Amino acid sequence: MTKVNIEDLEDKSLICVDCGNKFIWTAGEQKFFIEKGLKNLPKRCKICTAKNRDKLREKHPMWWAKCRICKKKNEVPFELTTDDILCEECYKKELIKRNNALIAAGETVPEN
Ligand SMILES: [Zn+2]
Ligand SMILES: [Zn+2]
Repeated sequence: MTKVNIEDLEDKSLICVDCGNKFIWTAGEQKFFIEKGLKNLPKRCKICTAKNRDKLREKHPMWWAKCRICKKKNEVPFELTTDDILCEECYKKELIKRNNALIAAGETVPEN
């Protein structure tokens, strides 16, 4: 991963493709962008990005999936063919449990 000094970056102003208004692309956002190796510059201001996301959501309905452990309902962007799902929280807990079990058994914990 590329390391970027936030001090080397300056806020830039970009033009929103939707409303034509200028918006600020902050140094912090640029740092994230470069470090993640992203290619497409942000095209929309915050407001239009939010609007656009809503539009996409309308086009792609969300489905509800129930977590196998806590039974909490989670919104997922795809239709599930299985009900064997874990919410993020439970998934993390399960991962810790698994890792602890591996450590207890004297095995190496895989990185993920
Ligand atoms: Zn805009
Ligand atoms: Zn859960």
